[in-house]
Amino acid sequence: MSDKNKPQKPFSRRSFIQTAAMTAATLALPGCSRNEKPVLSMLTGDFDPLRSYPYRGWEDFYRKIWTWDKVVRSTHSANCTGSCSWKVYVRNGVMVREEQAADYPRISADLPDYNPRGCQKGGCFTEYVYSPQRLRYPLIRTGERGEGKWHRATWDEALTLVAKKLLDNIYNYGPDTNSFFSVIPAMSPVSFCAGSRLAHYIGGVFLSFYDWYCDLPPGEPLTWGVQTEACECADWFNSKYIVLWGSNISQTRIPDAHFAYEARYNGAKIVCISPDYNASATHADLYFRINPGTDGILALGVAKLLIDHNLIDAPYVKEQTDMPLLVLSGTNRFLRESDLKKGGKEDIFYFWDTKQQHAVPTPGSMGSDQKTIQLNGADPALTGTFQVQLADGKSAEVTTVFELLKEKIAGYTVDKVAARTGLPAHEIELFAQELGTRKPAMIIHGAGTNHWFHNDLSNRSLILLVALTGNTGKNGGGFNHYVGQERVWPEQGFFKLAFPETRKKQRFQNTTLWSYVHSTNKDPHLYNGKPIEWYIQESAKNGWMPLWPKNGKKPRAFIVWRANYLNQAKGNEILESSLWKDLDLIVDINYRMDTTALYSDVVLPAASYYEKVDINTTDCHSYIHPFGKACEPLFESKTDWDIFRALAEKIAEVATKKGLKPFHDDAFDWNRDFTQLAHDWTSKGAIQTDEQAVNFILGNAEETKGMTYQQLQEKPKRFIATDPESWNSDIEEGVAYTPFKHQLEKKRPWRTLTGRQQFYIDHPWYIELGEALPTFKEPIEEKYPLYWNTPHGRWSIHSTWRDHRAMLRLQRGGPIVYMHPDDARKRGLQDNDWVRIHNEVGHCVCRLQILPGEKPGRVTMYHGWEKYLGFKEGGWQSLTYIKIKPTQLVGKYGHVNFRLNYWGPTGNNRDTKVEVEKAKV
Ligand code: SF4
Repeated sequence: MSDKNKPQKPFSRRSFIQTAAMTAATLALPGCSRNEKPVLSMLTGDFDPLRSYPYRGWEDFYRKIWTWDKVVRSTHSANCTGSCSWKVYVRNGVMVREEQAADYPRISADLPDYNPRGCQKGGCFTEYVYSPQRLRYPLIRTGERGEGKWHRATWDEALTLVAKKLLDNIYNYGPDTNSFFSVIPAMSPVSFCAGSRLAHYIGGVFLSFYDWYCDLPPGEPLTWGVQTEACECADWFNSKYIVLWGSNISQTRIPDAHFAYEARYNGAKIVCISPDYNASATHADLYFRINPGTDGILALGVAKLLIDHNLIDAPYVKEQTDMPLLVLSGTNRFLRESDLKKGGKEDIFYFWDTKQQHAVPTPGSMGSDQKTIQLNGADPALTGTFQVQLADGKSAEVTTVFELLKEKIAGYTVDKVAARTGLPAHEIELFAQELGTRKPAMIIHGAGTNHWFHNDLSNRSLILLVALTGNTGKNGGGFNHYVGQERVWPEQGFFKLAFPETRKKQRFQNTTLWSYVHSTNKDPHLYNGKPIEWYIQESAKNGWMPLWPKNGKKPRAFIVWRANYLNQAKGNEILESSLWKDLDLIVDINYRMDTTALYSDVVLPAASYYEKVDINTTDCHSYIHPFGKACEPLFESKTDWDIFRALAEKIAEVATKKGLKPFHDDAFDWNRDFTQLAHDWTSKGAIQTDEQAVNFILGNAEETKGMTYQQLQEKPKRFIATDPESWNSDIEEGVAYTPFKHQLEKKRPWRTLTGRQQFYIDHPWYIELGEALPTFKEPIEEKYPLYWNTPHGRWSIHSTWRDHRAMLRLQRGGPIVYMHPDDARKRGLQDNDWVRIHNEVGHCVCRLQILPGEKPGRVTMYHGWEKYLGFKEGGWQSLTYIKIKPTQLVGKYGHVNFRLNYWGPTGNNRDTKVEVEKAKV
């Protein structure tokens, strides 16, 4: 045996010290100085790093770390809005790492490109895929909900249980007792459609998410008649004035923040408006450390300054907004054709033409025959009062919306605004001056402003600023809201796959309302002297908002996929003890054991983002790219598409075995034959696989016509067109997408009752509640001293990655609340103390971090912590409850009608207040 192959003694600490001492001594000898070549023969024996030792297999693995068998393109769908294309490297059937694909085609040499695109969460997803949280098998609960006691089931057993229960509910209680919840189709539409198709064919209630999560900016449907429209992020570079208003892009738009910061090389200034000095504030030319909940008064104060200093774009305002429209002084209602003529229309409106000196109909309103807003030489008056003759021959006084606006905001003087917002008056004036003169100017709007109770009012006030200055509809301008990945670019293809027999034959439900009505949530506030229950009943009675199930029934089954309903729910403790208890069956389809899964009855293991075929789009860019199957779904998991297909087959099998007759669904006059469900669900066998589903969407949308899934695997593709049904601008070669060019350049009417950007809402409830025009209303909670702020964090996307080992290491490893040093001092609190955060709704116990950047009077906990991740008691939603704003319940008013994720009450949470004290632990 050669010396090399002789077994070596273990390398002990003692022998290391001996060898090191010998080496040091040797190096001290003449001939062994640092200037001379070391005598390597001394480094033998125990210290030989090349000696043989057991377990050397890992070395081979390490050496091959940069080798792979295949690379598959995929992405992540956690509602991050990133939509970043990644390459997943696979060796020996194991996903070993990911790398940013960095091959988005460039829009133009004049714009920075989208490469490389990603964030630190996406960069460690391969580890998540194999983490202990991963769900491996179907599970059926054996203990209490949330107790963690499960029986490992077969797919057949679990699906049979679910199929039987869904059918029992339909035949015994009605199809509207089965409820379905999934979020954000844009991030993986095929996974979304898998379940929505099942809900569609069995008559289930499909719940909204965008309003419930308060990501919907209600001011957009109100003012523009759209769900949300924003420019793609490359367009930020075209701006000369970027206002980050309640949006911390460095933290929440990691792949895109560079466009705003690079715009400074292009002459842009950046304003950051946020109560805390955050990561984005460090890039600002002007930073406003605003008092929480006062964004609306700042906006209206600035609007007053713009008007007072003649910084408005009058031709734009006259053509594009409702500011010149006439309002009857007596009723505060728009002057309508029906006021002037017997049999006149309710949806034709008037402005005062200064050339003709009389009221003329506004072109482009909903009732107008003219499908343009072109003024054709007329000059609408913005100010003044006028007399018109009504249909009954009487004379009536009318004035303009602009006059009413001026009157409304007259009280928002700069001193008053400075006092309420806590900002210096001269800086507010500077802001107004720059906003009115630096063109184009845009507002990047975020959850920091949108998550408040009066979000519709603040949205409308902010939109007003970019309308008065003529910025909306221009590259580099406008109000651009980015909260949630709400935009499915190939929308018509998606709708056809999601709800095949048209959306008219689907039971849709606003989740905020559903969660409120079916739980013991109670909003103690009175609105105009009436409780919210009165408004809810009126709204339902008038057919403004649907309320499923009907006739006082309770929901019985709840199926959740691609979402973490319970963890993210406002008033989660209240829901758990009421709505949740009343449900007979809760099914969670998931790739990890999150809070909703833990509190479910049946858990079905789903494929992760790297184990399925799907597509992904976002409002942040104008490309489409795919999810790919780097591996077959791990363990016993299946793709969402395969799970719902299997469930459809199982329901058909159970219905056949039971000999069930077709169920006549009176609401839609639909004879539902469940023995044929699998046949229907697969479109008579035409869409069996997820790849076929992708190609169906691509082939049925203007935006993606001619594209195939296989092509997308090669490279992301920019959309080729925009369907005028869904979009308000064209996709232009070499130009970043921005909305509302159809209105500005082609003079197409806005999608509102008046055909203009509509700031005046003359619905009776808006008039009664003093909200016909944008106005400022105070936050509605007062009792406790500290605002409870739960924004999007840096180290997770909502609850996803919250439990990731690597992400936890970048923070303190558990839930923490941030507090300003002054607030901590007042309460005798020290950094890392266990603290009890409480209010009248509930409490939680976690660690404190003292942060000078936090605003005094507010505490922050980045949201999404699962309850089991380190709270001593409670969770971050234990302090919240559901509050519904009455004006968000209206409907049947021109463009203001309930539509899923378009219009309905938002589940706001920022008005919550708390106290913090040292916890006894
Ligand atoms: S998690 Fe979202 S933002 Fe991060 S890399 Fe993935 S897709 Fe991009």
